[in-house]
Amino acid sequence: MSQYDLSRPVLEQVREAADIVAVVGEHLTLRKTGRNYVGLCPFHGEKTGSFNVSREKGTYYCFGCKRGGDVIDFVMEMERVTFAEAVERLADRFGVRLPPASPEARRRRDEQEQLADVMEAAQAVFARQLSQDRPRAFLERRGVPLDVAAEFGLGFARNEWRALYDELRKKFSERALVGAGLVVEGEGGKVWDRFRDRITIPIRSARGRIIAYGGRALGDENPKYLNSPETSLFSKGHVLFALDRAMRAFPKANRAVVVEGYFDCIALHRVGLTETVATLGTALSEHHAAELARRVPHVVVCFDGDAAGRQAAVAALRTLLAAALEVSVLVLPDGQDPDDVARREGAEGFGRRVATALPADAFLLRSMGESLLERRQNLQSMMEIARACSDPVRRIRIQETLAFGAGIPLEELRSLEIFRVMAAQAATEQVPENAELALLRSFLHDLEPAASAEHLRGFPIDGICHPGVRRVFEVLQRRLANGGGIEIVGVLSEIEDPADRRLLAGLELEAPQTPHERIPSLVDLVRRRADRLRSSEIIVRIRAAELAGDRDALARLQAEQSELIKRPKRGA
Ligand SMILES: [Zn+2]
Repeated sequence: MSQYDLSRPVLEQVREAADIVAVVGEHLTLRKTGRNYVGLCPFHGEKTGSFNVSREKGTYYCFGCKRGGDVIDFVMEMERVTFAEAVERLADRFGVRLPPASPEARRRRDEQEQLADVMEAAQAVFARQLSQDRPRAFLERRGVPLDVAAEFGLGFARNEWRALYDELRKKFSERALVGAGLVVEGEGGKVWDRFRDRITIPIRSARGRIIAYGGRALGDENPKYLNSPETSLFSKGHVLFALDRAMRAFPKANRAVVVEGYFDCIALHRVGLTETVATLGTALSEHHAAELARRVPHVVVCFDGDAAGRQAAVAALRTLLAAALEVSVLVLPDGQDPDDVARREGAEGFGRRVATALPADAFLLRSMGESLLERRQNLQSMMEIARACSDPVRRIRIQETLAFGAGIPLEELRSLEIFRVMAAQAATEQVPENAELALLRSFLHDLEPAASAEHLRGFPIDGICHPGVRRVFEVLQRRLANGGGIEIVGVLSEIEDPADRRLLAGLELEAPQTPHERIPSLVDLVRRRADRLRSSEIIVRIRAAELAGDRDALARLQAEQSELIKRPKRGA
């Protein structure tokens, strides 16, 4: 959730202020042709420019990969950030001051800005102290060159009770320092520095602001790692270390690598895997998985090569599968961690290892055990992990692999699962039918507004199969019912979903294609197609009801089926 008021007028203001040609121009070279600008698409490899930008309309569209939208969509897609983050970035850049959403949000913003100031001031102190002998010796032992240390902002907290406190109190209140978690308050109001005699590692938000610190002991003293306490801005279960840096590598790498420790993460960045992030000494959480799932399709898990690491990898795998991610696991040699291996083998050697990371099903099969007996004993618990997988096709593949590993017949599994898979696929059919798109385009562009409105009033929205096209039609009908127009700018302002926005922007730039007299037959096509889809869905449900022995459902479905068969085939 954004702390800012992102209501329509505010968004309009940001869209107005942000020059889409300038924003796109930072990522590719644009050339003016007629009223539009054209360049090589940044989202798919191409040699001729299919990527169009219209400054007038504030939209972009690629005829090659069909991506499109407005300036906010472009930033979301290019920089893999959320809607709110994209708006905030554009507002920062084009000098729009976003109004806080509420007095509460205003208070939080002021608090965050103060916290950010405290953290930056602390960072200056810590970073300066890294030049002392003991932290230098530590970095040398860990094989971290100084330029890499500087890049990640590593620092040092001196072995004194109030070194940082004394320095920062010149500028900030004691309350602010305690609130930032840098100073600990004991009984009787006694205060002292939280981090002492430790390497400090700044933990940044996705936006790049320091929100917490990790502290690593120089030797083996306990605890080896100490983190900032949870504050209103920092929660270990939500934040991924180095995400702000890794985000830049995501579009090209198209995946993320997840490790457990700060120094594992730094080592992997050094060998060129700049798409690496780390959990902060906690298990990979649902929030972490969700954070990754909206930025990359694939995650490689790379944990320590010991029993604890393998166990953590299984748990992480389950969480990532539940977030519908494709997952592979990089299994390291016994007793070694990613830092060791990356330092020893360098970029090339480690790269070879990553290429051999095991897909989820292969890793689980391997984790089931060496012997058939072992694998049978573990089948149940492994099947539970598979069940967490939210992608039905991937789930059934894993289940089949596990059943195969345990040497049990698949028939039972299949008969139960296959229908569920088919039903799910039918429900989420993602490819828009040409007919549906052509109709939408006709209504928006080819027809006179009055004729369009006429057709739209009686249009059978239920007959549209593609969910995005259906949502757009719903907006059109709603606007008509409320006496609004159906011009593209108005329609776009009511559509939030980025995929739907792309779809609309694409229609906007494509040339008209549908002769008016074809429209009634297209409407009919949509209707018939919907009937067909419905009857195949009923067939699947009838089989499922038979398997489940549900007589009531069976009777109901059969009645519906004969209704559908009787329906006249208009225009057929
Ligand atoms: Zn493209």
